[in-house]
Amino acid sequence: MTFQITATDGAARAGVLRTAHGEVPTPAFMPVGTKASVKTLHPDEVREAGARILLGNTYHLHFRPGADLIAELGGLQSFMGWDGPILTDSGGFQVFSLRDTIAAVDDEGVTFRSVYDGSPARFTPELVAEVQAQLGSDVAMCLDVCPPAGVSRAELSEAVRLTTAWAMRQREAARAPGQLVFGIAQGGLDRELRERSIEEITALGFDGYALGGLSVGEPRPDMLDAVAWSAPLLPAERPRYFMGIGDPEGILEVIARGIDVFDCVLPTRLGRTGTALTSHGRLNLRNARFAREPAPLDERCRCPACTRFSRAYIRHLVNQQELLGLRLLSLHNLHYLLDLTAGARAAIEAGRLADFTRDALAGAAQEPS
Ligand SMILES: [Zn+2]
Repeated sequence: MTFQITATDGAARAGVLRTAHGEVPTPAFMPVGTKASVKTLHPDEVREAGARILLGNTYHLHFRPGADLIAELGGLQSFMGWDGPILTDSGGFQVFSLRDTIAAVDDEGVTFRSVYDGSPARFTPELVAEVQAQLGSDVAMCLDVCPPAGVSRAELSEAVRLTTAWAMRQREAARAPGQLVFGIAQGGLDRELRERSIEEITALGFDGYALGGLSVGEPRPDMLDAVAWSAPLLPAERPRYFMGIGDPEGILEVIARGIDVFDCVLPTRLGRTGTALTSHGRLNLRNARFAREPAPLDERCRCPACTRFSRAYIRHLVNQQELLGLRLLSLHNLHYLLDLTAGARAAIEAGRLADFTRDALAGAAQEPS
């Protein structure tokens, strides 16, 4: 069995996802290794932080260095020195979020200009399946049409139609040995379109399902409502993936609504802006009040940054643009979100997710940075 649920608490689930490169306890946060690297971090550090599965970006790896080169060097795991599970996205999100680069969308695929050198490129379901097979990821994602928030209903409806048509073709494409393929449902916040998309995609039969086209600029309460009513429409015995959420509140809210895996660039992106996620909320290390502060980023955290360095030292590194500061913040933020997710999993097993969530977010609300 690919996915097994081991405990539930309300709509929340704890489980195990089995992949060709090992088991992933869920709920699971996937750090993003956009260009075959979780920015500034060694794979051993990422593992020690508690990560069990990484996300790789098909769009970027397709253009640089190219999936054929990665295949020649033994696949993405071997190439980047990470021997655990990897999920690759389809590249569709990048294409559709870089809307100015799109030349045409048709029933066969999408034509666009590469963000690297402007050269013409085209993604079809067959091509993204082939690229992900070459990368050798454990989970491949279907090519979908992901519109931003606020588009017309006609555009949303067309996105649903194409997403299903493309999923039908990608389902038939060759995959890497043992590779799982997840379908994606679109439809934005439109209940009828979202339900139609879920019905069509689940009827095709995939190893797991993602809610795509959410967290793309719509109000947070509306998005959470949509997760609450759409997650139960997905098959209970398959893993559910929410694409692109990584703030502490958001993670706990989607877990409570039945989501099993999620990803976000937030921990490393915040690290690069001098921001730490802590049990006291976000800390902007550029703030002068940390200049003489001997305390660690978060006294509850056991990461290599918090067990050894003061806020004052990390602030100094950030202000001087020392690479170590960026690394320590990325490492801490990753630890924080992975600890939070592991804590949520334990809370589901103990039937006390609501209490855990309230405690975890209480400090965050009290002390703004
Ligand atoms: Zn820490």
